[in-house]
Order: sequence, then structure tokens, then C-alpha cells
Amino acid sequence: MQALVLEQSEGRTTAIVRPLSPDALPAGEVTVDIDWSSLNYKDALAITGKGKIVRKFPMVPGIDFAGRVHHSEDPRFHTGQDVLLTGWGVGENHWGGLAEQARVKGDWLVPMPEGLDGRKAMIVGTAGLTAMLCVMAIEEGGVLPGQGDILVTGASGGVGSTAVALLSALGYRVTAVSGRASTHDYLRQLGATEILSRADVDKETRPLEKQRWAGAVDTAGDRTLASILAQTNYGGVVAACGLAGGFGLNTTVMPFILRNIRLQGIDSVNTPFARRTDAWRRVVKTLPAAFYQQAAREITLHEAAESAAKLLNNGLTGRTLVKIR
Ligand code: NDP
Repeated sequence: MQALVLEQSEGRTTAIVRPLSPDALPAGEVTVDIDWSSLNYKDALAITGKGKIVRKFPMVPGIDFAGRVHHSEDPRFHTGQDVLLTGWGVGENHWGGLAEQARVKGDWLVPMPEGLDGRKAMIVGTAGLTAMLCVMAIEEGGVLPGQGDILVTGASGGVGSTAVALLSALGYRVTAVSGRASTHDYLRQLGATEILSRADVDKETRPLEKQRWAGAVDTAGDRTLASILAQTNYGGVVAACGLAGGFGLNTTVMPFILRNIRLQGIDSVNTPFARRTDAWRRVVKTLPAAFYQQAAREITLHEAAESAAKLLNNGLTGRTLVKIR
């Protein structure tokens, strides 16, 4: 089988597509023939070696994949069944999806949700699942469409694009934050009503600013997240899922104790099975058919390393699908 293999020598990570013996796959109950994977921010950090994602080499990256069960020792899965996987440390400390096969724990797999196929599932991927979990947090915090704008940062990236499309489809008014003027048409097509530049939110803030947002999906962190907290309406919900702008957070208790706002952390890696399947079901139901055309580009396994570098240089928009076979 062919795989993108990461090796490390003298502190430098190399990424090469080469044959691997299926016998070398790690232990697990289910072996999957992979059809599609995708490139997420974390994959880009792992492939380029720019983030300390991988600690054990050689490693096959790819934090998500979709395919068919090749062999299963888990009674919940049978040969030929369509499945998908996101998270659980796959592609970080267990060989991942940028390969023709993977062997994983049955607990990590999700049967392909009705209404989805492998290609569509990977257009959504980890990024889209995360976006859905953010939207669910906003809903669960009681923020309804019509109560005010929802701010989405890193809006032209994978999480951001899907969040804009989901929120808009659910009837929320969306303000998108993007660092690139070239993405404005794309963001409007996805459903954004207003677009702000990064500088509008990535700036020093007072503990409380004018109330502007009923809720937010934040992929940036750091000064951006601090500004958003200070600008969130009374009773609003901020779903924090990313660190594209930095992992710091310098804020005060003021938005919490005077405006009753909720800061909800979002992790998609270890989301329990029931919540995961619920989120996938919501994705299928909510995302408009047009999203799958608007937000995805397709590459081969051989192009994954080059695209990873582009993704980190803010040179890609939306989702990048990897066609494995
Ligand atoms: P992408 O690279 O697809 O998108 C990130 C976007 O962030 C870019 O497209 C860009 O959008 C914006 N951006 C880039 N650099 C900066 C910066 N310095 N400051 C502010 N914004 C910036 O990545 P993903 O969408 O896959 O991931 C986004 C974030 O969410 C990452 O930090 C990732 O680690 C995190 N994440 C977290 C998950 C979880 O489970 N918690 C799961 C998946 C992702 P634009 O040009 O429009 O500004």
C-alpha cells in the first residue's frame, strides 16, 4: 500500500509517499481501505514539522479518513461497510488517513451516516465536525437565530467556512472575519452577511467593549478571542476551538460576571460516540448541497505535502480533500 510517511532526522521532518507493507500497520480491530482523507490545520503542522504534533516516527499523518472495512474483528463492523474516522490521536500517535489502508480501534469508527458518502464526509472532515460542535454549543447556550450576529473568525479556513455555511443555513446572521480580501465573494456565497478584516478583531481590548455579537465561533484564539469576549452580548456564547492566531488568552472576568456570557471550549478529538454521531447527523441535515461544491478542492496523496505548506501560509480556502484511490 502507498502512504505519506513522515520521518525525522536531525530535528527536520520529511514527508514522502512510499510503499508500506500492510503487515506494518499498527494494532487495531478494524482494517479500512481508505478512499478519501483531507488536510486539516493539524495535518499541516504535522507534515511540515512546524508543530509538535508527531512524537514517534515513522508516522503516517492524516487525522481523518473515509473508506470501506477491509477486515474486522469487531462485531459492530463488517467487510465492505462504509465508515469514517476523525480524531482519537489518529495521524498524531497512531498511523492515520493519508494512506491506502489504516488499522484502528472499532471504538474510533463511525458508520457512514445516511445521506453521506466518503467524499462528502471528508469535505466536512474534522474541520466540519468541529464547526458543527461549535454551532451546537451556541444553540445549547440558548442563542437563537434573530438574537444578533454570530461572529466566525478564520472564516475562509476549513472550520470557519463550514461554520459560516451551517449557521447561515440555520437562519443565523453571520459576520465573517477574514484576513484576505480575496475571500469575500466566497464567504458571501457561503452565507456571510458582513465581513470584517482580521485587524478589526485582533487588537488590544478593554475588559468590556460595545456589545456586538450574540455568539461566536473562534478559530484564532489569543487577542482575537479576548476582543470577542469583551464584545459579546449579555447572555452570549463563544465557542473557542482554535489557535490559528496563537494559544494565549489574556482576558478579565468582566464579560463573565457582568454580561453572563459563556466561553465554551470545543474539542473534536475525544468527543464521545453519541455526541459525535449526533453532530454528523446534524451536519447531513443542515449543510446545503451547494456547500460541497463551493468549499472543496481535491488533491492527490502526492500533492499533500505541498498543500500542507500552502495551508500554513494561509494560501488555501475551504476544505482540501485528498483522493487516496
Ligand atoms: P485552516 O488553515 O483551514 O483555516 C485557518 C484560517 O484561520 C485561515 O484560513 C485564515 O482564515 C485564519 N488565519 C490564519 N492565520 C491566522 C492568524 N494568524 N490569525 C487569525 N486568523 C488566522 O485551519 P482549520 O480550519 O482546519 O483549523 C482552524 C483552527 O481550528 C486551527 O487552530 C486548528 O488547530 C483548530 N481546530 C481545532 C479542532 C478542535 O477539535 N478543537 C479541530 C479542528 C481544527 P482567513 O484568511 O479567512 O482569515
